[in-house]
Amino acid sequence: MLLENNELEMNTTTQANLQQRDRAVNWHPYTQMKTADEIIPIVKGQGLYLYDNEGKKYMDVVSSWWVTLHGHAHPYIAQRVFEQLNTLEQVIFAGFTHEPAVLLSENLLKLLPENQEKVFYSDNGSTAVEVALKMCIQYAHNQGVKKTKILAFKNAYHGDTFGAMSVSGKSFWTKPFENMLFEVVFIDTPNPENLESLRLQIKNLADEVACFIYEPLVQGAAGMLMYDVEDLNSLMQICREEKVFMIQDEVFTGFGRTGKLFTADYLTEKPDIMCFSKGLTGGTMPMGITTCSNDIYNAFLSDDRHKTLFHGHSFTANPLACAAALASMELLLKEETQMNISRISRQHSEFVRKLTVVPQVENARHIGTILAFDFKAGSGTSYFNEIGKKLYQEFLKRGMIMRPLGNVIYLVPPYCITSEELDFVYQNILEVLEQFKNEY
Ligand SMILES: *Cc1c(COP(=O)(O)O)cnc(C)c1O
Repeated sequence: MLLENNELEMNTTTQANLQQRDRAVNWHPYTQMKTADEIIPIVKGQGLYLYDNEGKKYMDVVSSWWVTLHGHAHPYIAQRVFEQLNTLEQVIFAGFTHEPAVLLSENLLKLLPENQEKVFYSDNGSTAVEVALKMCIQYAHNQGVKKTKILAFKNAYHGDTFGAMSVSGKSFWTKPFENMLFEVVFIDTPNPENLESLRLQIKNLADEVACFIYEPLVQGAAGMLMYDVEDLNSLMQICREEKVFMIQDEVFTGFGRTGKLFTADYLTEKPDIMCFSKGLTGGTMPMGITTCSNDIYNAFLSDDRHKTLFHGHSFTANPLACAAALASMELLLKEETQMNISRISRQHSEFVRKLTVVPQVENARHIGTILAFDFKAGSGTSYFNEIGKKLYQEFLKRGMIMRPLGNVIYLVPPYCITSEELDFVYQNILEVLEQFKNEY
């Protein structure tokens, strides 16, 4: 009887009804609930598209916050997760292991720089960063050395937990917690002019610094800010010479986003630690990974229990997430996917050329499947910039999910987007730019 009633209720759910019920009980991320626009109930995802409960479809060109690689509800990933769900859904990862975790670690390590030799599992990007920071800080501690400072980039974003917030650039996002964050020295992203002063800065701090954490080549949340491979390589070389551990946060850039499997594939210098999440499972299940060198790992081997890395999450190496990651990586390595990534990259680069002649566009840029440009706005680039909100609504009306970061408009599409679909998105961007040209 109860079940029948529930079914009846579900069938009569209208969009307004669901929005109302949502508002009564849910608190959404990065959302000012007082002034938020009506949120959209989604009932189905397929490939590039998301469908709302009134049948309208949207192109998800931000890959649902940069996580979806092969499109929504991918049948192969679904199949593999389903099989795993019927075999082993979860097991404590202290004292136990399972095939999907071993295989995933083996497969991932094969694709990373050869100094990456151990895998530590967690459940999201922020925790992957927390683990990396704890590895570096405790490394020093285990050797009886005190290193309390950390180096990070201005404008960095590494997540929302306290450690991750500490190493993220100071902004209004972290303002309320300012006094609770640990000591971080923020440096500029490298360019040929500032490399020597960065060298001096790092040299002077090297004894007190536990590690340097950075988003390689693209600072995503800061507004898709990009910097050069050679300059990052030079900076990494300085860190290596000064014996400062490097944590390369590939949470966003990993798994093909920048045109290569990892940004590590652009670099000759090797990081000591790497962080992954977002595209790791193709965007289907939450999972985080921190990999490290044996140098780091060995510093925790001891007969003294105090030197253990005391960190773990209930869902460490969850078998379902491992199965999703294995399936997603198989898809990623297929020639077809690799060709799609190159094609998107080529199309982006042509569109960047077109954008450079649009007067209301500044800093058109791209790397791999990531494209971004600034909408020229009088008040400067800022998340608060109202133009972002207006553009968001306009693109939604046109059936496209774009989420400008202030006046920075960007595309991070899933790799299954076709050439025609991408051209359609470009065309709409040009139309919207024309439509809003008198606004600023
Ligand atoms: C998104 C992001 C994180 C945080 O990941 P969550 O899963 O959202 O906690 C960390 N680092 C980078 C570079 C990111 O883009």
